[in-house]
Amino acid sequence: MEGNLIKNILCKTFVKLYQAGLNTPKSGNISARIGNTMIISPSGVAVSDITPEKFIEVKIGDGEIVNGTLTPSSEWRFHHDIYNYFTENKAVIHTHSTYATALSCLNIELPSFHYMIATFGSGPVKCARYETFGTPELSLSVRDAIKDRKVCLLANHGAIAVGESISEAYDNAVLLEELAKIYLISISAGKPTLLPKEEMLELKNKFTTYGKNNDSKA
Ligand SMILES: [Zn+2]
Repeated sequence: MEGNLIKNILCKTFVKLYQAGLNTPKSGNISARIGNTMIISPSGVAVSDITPEKFIEVKIGDGEIVNGTLTPSSEWRFHHDIYNYFTENKAVIHTHSTYATALSCLNIELPSFHYMIATFGSGPVKCARYETFGTPELSLSVRDAIKDRKVCLLANHGAIAVGESISEAYDNAVLLEELAKIYLISISAGKPTLLPKEEMLELKNKFTTYGKNNDSKA
């Protein structure tokens, strides 16, 4: 029952990512964790053809398919490995969104140029070194870049957002794209001022408790 509900939410979010302009009809993939399995979008199915039944359930540990008739996304491995490395994550979204991907092609970090960067962690958004998609090497590169963060860039490829829920991962993917856009505009016009480390740490703590103690958000 829980699996069907999650498949429905994943399917709706997969379509929303396309509608928000973060993915093209066949790019990007999405997953959610339930216990010791993950449910992930299928390989090569266009957004116009996606249905909840087409999502696949894969065991975390050995990657065995336990439910579903289609092939999991060709990028299933880093979804699987993120759940394995960081157990707090319940959802993973991968996009080839335009501005985040443009930044990833420059192979640079997204620095602390805007206070909202702190919603992802206290430091800059890192860019995972380039490795071929679907490989264990890419998983290791992602592990190093996304540790203690909610998002990372993938060099010459795209971006990843995680969350403790599917909606949180979605919000993080959308915000990363917006911040990447603002950063690219900023560096085209001049040299953005960066916020100090201490301020980013304080902001991170504020965001961690935001909504839990009636703090107001700017
Ligand atoms: Zn990709």
